[in-house]
Amino acid sequence: MLKGLGQTLREFFKKPVTVSYPEQKRPVHQRFRGRHVLQRYENGLEKCIGCSLCAAACPADAIFVEAAENTDVERYSPGERYARVYEINMLRCIFCGYCEDACPTEAIVLRDQYELSFYDRDSSIYPKEMLLEPVPPGGRPTPQVTEPGKYTQSVPIMQDPQH
Ligand code: SF4
Ligand code: SF4
Repeated sequence: MLKGLGQTLREFFKKPVTVSYPEQKRPVHQRFRGRHVLQRYENGLEKCIGCSLCAAACPADAIFVEAAENTDVERYSPGERYARVYEINMLRCIFCGYCEDACPTEAIVLRDQYELSFYDRDSSIYPKEMLLEPVPPGGRPTPQVTEPGKYTQSVPIMQDPQH
């Protein structure tokens, strides 16, 4: 009994580990997979080119992509096409990250947002407007009017991973 009481006393004087959520939030691990974000380039153009590789890689069939054609007077992303519709069904998603791995332009990423509550099935479908990140400082919103012939390449030249 004394041993038990001693243990209780020792714990009593230790710094508490309880976090007062939601006022306080613990930082998540660097490789945490939270809610998806569709990224933009610095100039504001969307990285997603509507290729549907993420949808094909998804084991839960949670992603729906419908592509449309870019033009130089109405451009959303570099290259020929962009995602006119991009939806993720969060009821199906298992946060495996396969979509992130499959994306050729690093458009879809799983970030640190874990507050994903909703109260009906319709709200579990996250549309592109919710997933797309804000325009970065100095960038322009999409669609943009762009210089003809400047953004013909959909997939950027990747850096050599050895360097
Ligand atoms: S994290 Fe996995 S389950 Fe969720 S949308 Fe991406 S590929 Fe599908
Ligand atoms: S998020 Fe990536 S893989 Fe999915 S449609 Fe867009 S560009 Fe293709």
